[in-house]
Amino acid sequence: MKIMKFGGTSVGSPLRMNQVLDLITSDNTPKIVVLSALSGTTNALVNISNAIAEGDRKEAQHKIQELEAHYRRFVNELVQTESGKQKANAIVSEHFEFLNIILKISFSEALNKDILAQGELLSTKLFCVFLEEKAIDHVLLPALEFMSIDANGEPQIGSIKVKLSQLLQQYQAKKLFITQGYICRNSKGEVDNLKRGGSDYTASLVAAALNAEVCEIWTDISGLHNNDPRIVEKTVAVEHLSFDEAAELAYFGAKILHPACIWPARSYNIPVKLLNTMEPKAAGTTIAQTAMSIGVKAVAAKDGIISIRIKSSRMLLAYGFLRKIFEVFEKYKTSIDMITTSEVAVSVTIDDPTYLHQIIKELEPLGNTDTETDQTIISIVGNEIVKSNDILKKIFNSLENIPISMVSYGGSPHNISLLISSKDKKTALQLINYGVFGL
Ligand code: ASP
Ligand code: MG
Repeated sequence: MKIMKFGGTSVGSPLRMNQVLDLITSDNTPKIVVLSALSGTTNALVNISNAIAEGDRKEAQHKIQELEAHYRRFVNELVQTESGKQKANAIVSEHFEFLNIILKISFSEALNKDILAQGELLSTKLFCVFLEEKAIDHVLLPALEFMSIDANGEPQIGSIKVKLSQLLQQYQAKKLFITQGYICRNSKGEVDNLKRGGSDYTASLVAAALNAEVCEIWTDISGLHNNDPRIVEKTVAVEHLSFDEAAELAYFGAKILHPACIWPARSYNIPVKLLNTMEPKAAGTTIAQTAMSIGVKAVAAKDGIISIRIKSSRMLLAYGFLRKIFEVFEKYKTSIDMITTSEVAVSVTIDDPTYLHQIIKELEPLGNTDTETDQTIISIVGNEIVKSNDILKKIFNSLENIPISMVSYGGSPHNISLLISSKDKKTALQLINYGVFGL
């Protein structure tokens, strides 16, 4: 079994859906195709939901109408036959009627999740009408029947495995399955999701549950690049990454992959391939157990970072100081990304500002705090990178004129991270591209 996941841009136009069709029918391997919502849809649904939450029903209604018009145009171009158009339009009607009914109900978190689920429900159902029109045998597997998370929002891989296998057993002669990315049920049985960008996560969970031979993530770029191609001119695709390297890169800002999607693939040792719908012949990136080589592979940048320095005159020779600090972050469920310490001060970074105010207030009794927003973590990643003897020299030489406020070295053997001001990010990435990658 092979898993193929297509992101929003890969299904974002009728032309792209035709390309997806070519890709999924190019060989006879049994496959599960995981689809995202059409590009722009989830953002539109978030806006609709926000408008409803704010009580602005007029605005919400207007946005629903706009989105519906987009889908009407889309299906008209996607499907050619009269009966196909009828079916597709009936699906669009069903989902937009649902959204219009929601306008009349009072807002809740559960309702929000229902709204957000419409994108993947629409994309998969419409794609199936399209397949039917092309006479391609397939089965739509409803993700809400097998994908689930527990009370902590963690996927229940055991139960996913059982339910998915049971579902598949009903269709033993079939080879092509379509399912929704992103959406799932929570511990209360309500519709929920795996967070933004979660379709990758769905794909790797499905791959793990079925012990698939490969999990292919199809996007609009040929694999993971050594640097951000939106910012830096010359970048190259990285052919091989280990799960460790990929996890560091995804977590520290490489936009190509949902960070959580690494662990299921790693646990079940399933190679993940990052491929390009527009350039299907390109090698892309293969993520597997071994790194294939040692040394620097790529750099990623994570924005929206806040640094907090806590300075205590009493930390000198004091124990328990770090614990007290960490407890404050734990209490507010805010995870720390980077940390550096000296005898009298501790600096940490966080990326979630939700409880910043409360955290600072509770840290006050422990020492003076200094908060800096608009920071960026630059992570240079590569297998055993900390062991290469000239890497630090190269990094610091390239960034000679960029103020660096934190450095993290040695925490992971595969990652060296620096904290800089976000306004210096572009220059820093360019300088590293030249000085570290020689590009
Ligand atoms: N449609 C969802 C989003 O835009 C999930 C995904 O595309 O991965 O976040
Ligand atoms: Mg995505």
